[in-house]
Amino acid sequence: MPTSGIRPLVAGNWKMNGLRRSMDTIEALSTRANEEGVLEALDMLVCPPATLISLAVKTVDTTPIHIGAQSCHPAESGAHTGDVAPEMLRDVGASYVITGHSERRADHGETDADVNAQSVGAWRAGLCAIVCVGETREEREAGRAVDVVVGQLAGSVPDGATAENTVIAYEPVWAIGTGLTPTVEDIAQIHAAIRQSVADRFGAEGEAMRLLYGGSVKPGNAAEVLSPAHVDGALVGGASLSASDFMGIATAVKGLVDA
Ligand code: PEP
Repeated sequence: MPTSGIRPLVAGNWKMNGLRRSMDTIEALSTRANEEGVLEALDMLVCPPATLISLAVKTVDTTPIHIGAQSCHPAESGAHTGDVAPEMLRDVGASYVITGHSERRADHGETDADVNAQSVGAWRAGLCAIVCVGETREEREAGRAVDVVVGQLAGSVPDGATAENTVIAYEPVWAIGTGLTPTVEDIAQIHAAIRQSVADRFGAEGEAMRLLYGGSVKPGNAAEVLSPAHVDGALVGGASLSASDFMGIATAVKGLVDA
């Protein structure tokens, strides 16, 4: 349940999905977000592949849906073949970038130090960093979930984080794309630990920072999995590829705000 005084964020991560024709989805989102008034209660963000950011920014047009990226290189420019600088993302209209997604950590060996450097790069370019943390199945079964997440936060979130430049996403690795979700008690425990950790380190900025839950959030389970305290919205993978599923999740979050 979104913390009182914190404007929730419902963010979609399209991963490596989407072609120019996928702007249909952005158009549908734009229309429905306007019609259904969800943007009065929360922020919505779509992170398509880098190839579509510019087009997506044009497609949302005057609807205040934010467009973001899924990763970035820490540097502003240079000899880094295949990488994209935060300044390039900002230049085409991105306002957020996801850092430390577990698929980047697993597929590209990105460490907490890499995620930290990317987040600093994001801030330099004027982007808000969505820093992802989350335990594996083995770590949870070993009773280490809280320690792992708090450790990742310490390493991945740079000094100087504020409620404006940083969002934290708790995404248990074993819940991403699997249809599995933690219990609401487990989500509540981890989100309370994250709040404590960022409040201890960043004071009032940590108290006001948005903490998202991610991992198999769907319209049918959103009201339940997002109900614990300190859950200020969602980071959504698969369900963000469908305008109606993504809107269903946004509507559920609005319902939690209105309750
Ligand atoms: C994600 O990729 O960040 C994610 C949460 O995926 P899904 O919603 O498909 O589990």
